[in-house]
Amino acid sequence: MLRAFRSDAVRKFFLVWLVGVLVFVPFITGFALQNEQPAVFVDSTPFIPGEPLDKNEMRITFMGTSVIPRKGQASNSVFVETGNGDSFIFDIGSGVSTNYVAMGIPYSRMDKVFLTHLHADHMSDLTTLYCFGPSLDRKTPLRLFGPSGDTPEYGTMAFAEALKLLTRWHVESFSFTPTGLKSGVSGYDIDVKELPYMEVGGVAYEENGVKITHFPAVHDRNGSISYKLEWNGLSMIFSGDTKPNYYMVDQGKGVDVLIHEMVVPPEVWAAKNTGMKPGDVGWPQAIAYTTAVEDSSHTTQKALGYILSQANPRLGVATHFQVNEDTVDNALEDVRTWYQGPFAIATDLLVINVSKDRIRLRYAQVSDYSWYPSPKLYPPAQLAPPKYPSPLAQLNEELLSHVIPASVYAGETK
Ligand SMILES: [Zn+2]
Repeated sequence: MLRAFRSDAVRKFFLVWLVGVLVFVPFITGFALQNEQPAVFVDSTPFIPGEPLDKNEMRITFMGTSVIPRKGQASNSVFVETGNGDSFIFDIGSGVSTNYVAMGIPYSRMDKVFLTHLHADHMSDLTTLYCFGPSLDRKTPLRLFGPSGDTPEYGTMAFAEALKLLTRWHVESFSFTPTGLKSGVSGYDIDVKELPYMEVGGVAYEENGVKITHFPAVHDRNGSISYKLEWNGLSMIFSGDTKPNYYMVDQGKGVDVLIHEMVVPPEVWAAKNTGMKPGDVGWPQAIAYTTAVEDSSHTTQKALGYILSQANPRLGVATHFQVNEDTVDNALEDVRTWYQGPFAIATDLLVINVSKDRIRLRYAQVSDYSWYPSPKLYPPAQLAPPKYPSPLAQLNEELLSHVIPASVYAGETK
């Protein structure tokens, strides 16, 4: 029998152990308290894709939560919907397309992507989004927001031009079908807004009451940023990757949901990645590498606790974290040395509804075998004609002469 629905029991298990949130729904019995901290209630009712969003609410869905693309956790991406009907993607790393499809998000609702930086675990699936959107229901340009670099070739503008070159064969191949509108816009255009990476509070987006600003992140090399979204008196921050920094402490004060990266300690990372242990030949090199990664780029468990203690959000969420049975207890202990407030560690398909009086956490229940969701339909008269007149127009005569005619196999076997 097909495993039609993915069990979310494992993810729930982890979150129950991790969370330490004030009970938003006090009349519902929570889980056993860990370390005498107040527990967050992760609603046992699953989120079913397609649930309407209240016009005053914001919904945050974790589509990817890991550094390593793993079966239970894709790389990084957060999907934010606002009650006014708008939607935003923050980072789009390796493997997250699967979760967007499972959650029933059509490409027409994935038209605004905000990149924190250009590491592959934050941008790889942009290829899928860019390539397949126009042949499905995103017939308008992809809107791409991302940081500048120290020189133009390292900025998001150059990245977008390179993406167009990389995908030229794909774009042509799909141009036997309408990929744009008669008004002249093409789904294969990219509207880039490059954001000066050192700007604090620069406006990336301001439309329909939604304001998205950015501020510097300190990660690996110059040219990483974090984002803050504000709408209807609600707010959230997505850090992307960063070392612990004071920009975040300042920007995070009073935010509703602060989503921040966190990494396992170097010795855990080294042991998991190599299978080695202290004393083994090669252990010093393994530790040296993971320590260098942490030093150049990331936020330790204790550092995240400190940041949350300073910013004091309504809910702190760690992401970009390898969730395993033997990583979460240590993480929670470290975070709790500084921060006693509402906290969760995200795994994929955690859905957070945010309103002024409540924050609700659930896991989505989805099919492992989803098809694309129902597309937005354009009246045929609005669609631009395809570039190529037929699906066979890009194949040469020699190849076509080797195609087995349907008349050979469509009937009964002899
Ligand atoms: Zn990175």
